[in-house]
Amino acid sequence: MIIMKKCAYCDKTNNKISNEHIISKAFIKKYYEIGKGYINAEEKYTQNFPTVRDVCIKCNNENLNKLDTYFREFYEKYIPTYVINELSEIKIEYDFNKLSAWVLKTLYNSERKNSYSHLPKKMHRLKEYILGKDNRTKLFKIYVELIRDIDKEEIKRHHPDPNIEVPDKIDYLRIGNTVFSDQLETGVTDTFKYIVTSNFVFHVFLLNPNELGESKAKVLLDRYLKVANISRISFLDPLKKALTLKASNRTIVDMLEKTFEGEKHVTDRMREEL
Ligand SMILES: [Zn+2]
Repeated sequence: MIIMKKCAYCDKTNNKISNEHIISKAFIKKYYEIGKGYINAEEKYTQNFPTVRDVCIKCNNENLNKLDTYFREFYEKYIPTYVINELSEIKIEYDFNKLSAWVLKTLYNSERKNSYSHLPKKMHRLKEYILGKDNRTKLFKIYVELIRDIDKEEIKRHHPDPNIEVPDKIDYLRIGNTVFSDQLETGVTDTFKYIVTSNFVFHVFLLNPNELGESKAKVLLDRYLKVANISRISFLDPLKKALTLKASNRTIVDMLEKTFEGEKHVTDRMREEL
């Protein structure tokens, strides 16, 4: 008897299971020189393109691939190839459902592949939204930050070799969780996840079904901005189609040092790349 695996998106067991890349392989190959990243579950950096093997062919081909296509086009259009400084701004036009579903499916894939035992799993609550079967946007809020590029001279100053050649721009691709130190002591109930692609950071707040509402979201946002020291962040409004992003005060280094999984890995990664 063949036991069919349940699809992580549609829950069906009668479709063939396929490999779904956490972030599309074609995307990484085109825009990032290496598909190298730290995989918590394997406790190592890997050259491979991490995949999850629990998505049926139907969901993969009919839904998730379309989201990848949408995001590739979005990226191609807006991601800056020039240095972003504190005065930079970029206007983006977006299709909220597609952009948010891409962000959420990437985080859901990552959560299944690379979970942390002390972080609650919440992404499965959004699988119907990702598939386009549920259009309620109450369970999450997405904020976008345009981070500055790391100053070339700053990198040189911290590097042991003073004559090191530093490129003008280093693009990062990271998926992670923002956990504040006091949350580790009291237990994590409010969940913040992020995706960094080049200068764009998508911050995702996963709201608990029993605590929905604007006042709760406002409290979370205020605290998040304060603890993470973010000067500027923009709400990705489901009711709008365009947004002007102004650069924030932070670089990727500022961003990651506030997270429990960040500091070590970003400095390791920079050392390897330079
Ligand atoms: Zn499926």
